[in-house]
Amino acid sequence: MGDLMNLVLFGAPGAGKGTQGALLARRLAIPRISTGDLLREAVRQGTPLGRQAKQYMDAGELVPDAVILGLVREALASDAAKPGFILDGFPRNVAQAQALDEILRSLGRRLDDVAVLDVPDDVVVKRIAGRRGCPSCQSVYNVHYEPPRRDELCDSCNSSLVQREDDREETVMRRLQVYRGQTQPVLAYYEVQGTPVVHLEADRPVDEVQAQLLSHLGS
Ligand code: ADP
Ligand code: AMP
Repeated sequence: MGDLMNLVLFGAPGAGKGTQGALLARRLAIPRISTGDLLREAVRQGTPLGRQAKQYMDAGELVPDAVILGLVREALASDAAKPGFILDGFPRNVAQAQALDEILRSLGRRLDDVAVLDVPDDVVVKRIAGRRGCPSCQSVYNVHYEPPRRDELCDSCNSSLVQREDDREETVMRRLQVYRGQTQPVLAYYEVQGTPVVHLEADRPVDEVQAQLLSHLGS
């Protein structure tokens, strides 16, 4: 059986990768592999990897490639990813994109598409400022756009919602710089490689963006 969908979700911090990725993962029953989530889990558990990563994350910098590639290699080789996968937040520089090609080649697989969530800078900044997450079940909300039913409490598990430490304004500015300087060049890499890159108008309500995504992916 061929892969259902091997997809990279691409876009600035706050563009909606996690939101769209979670919806698509549920629909296609394939895993969403978020390097940010994997790192935050390692930080929470206080593993050596988490302790190493934390300083970079708090500064809004990229965590060293060697750390990230270990996580991604393991996730892609897992049984869960056999039917397909949605990468969210990876690759974030050209070296990671090259390493991903190698990993997939070694598994006899390839990327189908890179879907880019295009959102203007001012919207991204507002989305990040309003982002709140559930520390227990990892659901994501937005005080401006996707508020929980009750003030600052998770709809699914009732925990108090929190703001990510790296969603503070100073760190957000650095993360956007890193996105422009190191991550956006990955798109030129894929154009050269001939991997299909589709751009979505992601400054739209969540379900409209999901509909664009589905129609581009032809499912
Ligand atoms: P990313 O994973 O790209 O960093 P998220 O999916 O976490 O982005 O979304 C960032 C914030 O914006 C979250 O608070 C989320 O609830 C909100 N959000 C995501 N998509 C939309 C949308 N289409 N419209 C309004 N708010 C959105
Ligand atoms: P995210 O949840 O995708 O916004 O990622 C949060 C932070 O985790 C980033 O600002 C980086 O510090 C780190 N991170 C996540 N994914 C990567 C990656 N692919 N490469 C390097 N650092 C990453």
